[in-house]
Amino acid sequence: MHKHLTGDLAALPDLLQTTRDYAVSVLAGLGERPVAPPPVPVPAAPLPLVGAGTAGALAEFQRRWAPGFSGSAGPRYLGFVTGGATPAALAGDWLTGAFDQNGSNRSGSSAAGLEDETVAWLREMFGLGPEHSGAFVSGATMSNLVGLAVGREWIGRRLGVDVARQGLAALGEITVLSGTAHSSVYKALSILGAGRDALRPVATLPDREAVDVSALAAALESLDGRPAIVVANAGTVNTVDFDDLRAILALRDRYPFWLHVDAAFGGFAALSPDHAHLVDGLTEADSVCVDLHKWLNVPYDAAVQFTRHRDLQVAVFQNSAAYLPAVSGDPDFFHLTPENSRRLRALAAWFTLAAYGADGHRTIVTGAIAAAHRLGARLTAIPGVRLLSPVRLNVVCFSVPTDVPALVQAIADSGEAFLTPTVYRGEPALRAAFSNWRTTPADADRVAALLERLLT
Ligand SMILES: *Cc1c(COP(=O)(O)O)cnc(C)c1O
Repeated sequence: MHKHLTGDLAALPDLLQTTRDYAVSVLAGLGERPVAPPPVPVPAAPLPLVGAGTAGALAEFQRRWAPGFSGSAGPRYLGFVTGGATPAALAGDWLTGAFDQNGSNRSGSSAAGLEDETVAWLREMFGLGPEHSGAFVSGATMSNLVGLAVGREWIGRRLGVDVARQGLAALGEITVLSGTAHSSVYKALSILGAGRDALRPVATLPDREAVDVSALAAALESLDGRPAIVVANAGTVNTVDFDDLRAILALRDRYPFWLHVDAAFGGFAALSPDHAHLVDGLTEADSVCVDLHKWLNVPYDAAVQFTRHRDLQVAVFQNSAAYLPAVSGDPDFFHLTPENSRRLRALAAWFTLAAYGADGHRTIVTGAIAAAHRLGARLTAIPGVRLLSPVRLNVVCFSVPTDVPALVQAIADSGEAFLTPTVYRGEPALRAAFSNWRTTPADADRVAALLERLLT
């Protein structure tokens, strides 16, 4: 054994204690750490030949890299939709590494059973039924990819083509219809060989990002009975608008289509009694994407994908080999997603659900919604600031009477908060997205005061 491995093995309890103490100090300073420091170039270091042992590596990380790391786990990082890590999720994540299970298959470990239990809990939390099976993937992009891949297979079978065996060339073009699709849907279509152009944007309602269902019906009508994929959006990133899932579902009587719902973060509306109606109908979708490293507040990277057609999913993703278990009634996870070997991502989610339950997570969701409303109300009082949509859930999308990139920079430079720019209906704007369990009303006020200061 290498001398540092021997030494580290002997000193393991102390090394983990030191790492734990350091992590505690990082988390204790999260509220004061610059939320998004400007990246300072770190001079390259050569590949270590002998290494420095864990203690040496930790010291070097603290010196060279940690100072530039963001406070994205903290309460005022409002860029993208970022979330954080609850205490239980963090504990579960640590143990994921300690146990280092390969979550790909069911032999030799009960780890896959824990994933099944976690998926079942999530299914219930999002109001899905037992006919939805699920699996963990690395993020909503992968979840959308899996849903669209199974949808592509479904189209093939309707037209007598086994796409998984024969390839997309045997099927020809596929059509994907969506109102305001997330960029990851285009990416997934590129990966899947359908091509980005397969997505035909459908008109949205006036002043909305939600799809105009009559325009969707007209687009389906124009396909002359050829099956398609409809991507419904349950929470758009700019204004968190929701397609009317029930109205879309009603079109299934007339037109053949696979309904995939991108509910990456909007799915969490199901937890808020005042907002659950926004995802009514989710349970009827053929496939559903929900991100977990956003609003569930587990560390990166985790999402879940649900589908009602496990047979088609196995046709796409099965990975049979002589040395691997065969596909069974309860397929191994490597028959269900793009990955074969994979970390037991479910453990962090299991921990946070076991620790706080649906109720605890409901308070995270309703707290973020309240913070967004609070910030939105204060922003409307700043001269020249305009909300570009009502605050529907957890995001405030607004325009400012000044240069957006300069303001984004000034916010980041303050160290107090981080917001990301966007363009909404051709207008440069900012987004403040709330999804972190640590965020309090005082944080919303602090961001509002910062913007007041920078804009007046
Ligand atoms: C974030 C997001 C995605 C992509 O999620 P990743 O976790 O970054 O892969 C897809 N769709 C929507 C609506 C999102 O908000």
